[in-house]
Amino acid sequence: MNLKRFWILYRQMNTETLKHYSQGILSGDRRVLAKAITLVESTLHAHRDEAQQLVDSLLDRTGKAIRLGITGVPGVGKSTFIESFGMMLLDQGLQVAVLAIDPSSSRSGGSILADKTRMERLSAAQGAFIRPSPSGGTLGGVARMTRETMLLCEAAGFDVIIVETVGVGQNEATVAGMVDFFLILMLTGAGDELQGIKKGILELADALAVNKADGDNAKRADKTRKELELAMHLMQPSSAAWSPPVLTCSALTTEGLVDIWRTVQEHHEKLTATGELAAKRKEQALQWMWSLISEGLNEKFHRHPGVQRHLSTTIAMVRRGELAATTAAQRLLFLLDNE
Ligand code: GDP
Repeated sequence: MNLKRFWILYRQMNTETLKHYSQGILSGDRRVLAKAITLVESTLHAHRDEAQQLVDSLLDRTGKAIRLGITGVPGVGKSTFIESFGMMLLDQGLQVAVLAIDPSSSRSGGSILADKTRMERLSAAQGAFIRPSPSGGTLGGVARMTRETMLLCEAAGFDVIIVETVGVGQNEATVAGMVDFFLILMLTGAGDELQGIKKGILELADALAVNKADGDNAKRADKTRKELELAMHLMQPSSAAWSPPVLTCSALTTEGLVDIWRTVQEHHEKLTATGELAAKRKEQALQWMWSLISEGLNEKFHRHPGVQRHLSTTIAMVRRGELAATTAAQRLLFLLDNE
């Protein structure tokens, strides 16, 4: 199929459905938004096509929100923080959407992010929209859904999109790759091990906040803040216009949350003025394109009948040491074009 024919087919699909969704979203209809997100999260190809058309058709209505990523180890206070922070933003007349990325999540077990029962006030509030992580699938798949959901929320008029993830390994880089500002919540007593958060992760941060800086813990929180500040000074800031600050806060008493919001806004203003924010978003979109291409090629590879026929025997030969990994990879890739 040539490219022109592809576009004609692509554009002609389901115009009525598309209109229903896009008008509903643009008018801020939460029910339609939730249904559109379900479409984005569907594994059916027909739904995926519709979802992609919808996102495309709304693209010029996106981009106005502040995209804020939040991570931290389990128990650091992410839910409590997002609830308090979200309520503060609502009080300022802003609309807030909370999304999550957690590839391990399932409704039956594990920690569920953006959990409505853990953000009771926020989930009941007008002006807030909370969507837990799409369940199942790879990190790449979950990230794609969350990115598209973020764009739909922007088209629906949300001013701040919070993307939450648990601080374990790969998730942080994925979230940092889709937001304007990446905030890492920390606990007191960071010490040398930096609480299991790898140094590479700290490099992604636009700010650190030591949470639970209240009561007896306030002093220790300040000590941790100073230690982290030293650690951050040793790092090369990713932008000349921004050195990531280390703050303290209490999600419980809400102390320090205003400062964190001010920091996010200041970052937004500075990087907008230098043009870095626009450049960062363009780069993120390109990175996203490449990761979708990798994912698509991977899927195509595994669906290919020739590959399916030979894959398990090739794997067995590599395992037994009868075939070098390089040769095995070359042979399998050769099948893609030649069978
Ligand atoms: P998450 O796993 O990162 O989402 O953490 P939660 O928000 O569920 O918080 C874990 C525990 O820490 C809960 O018992 C919270 O009440 C408590 N917590 C969260 N934030 C604070 C805070 O600022 N101060 C204090 N003292 N406790 C907090």
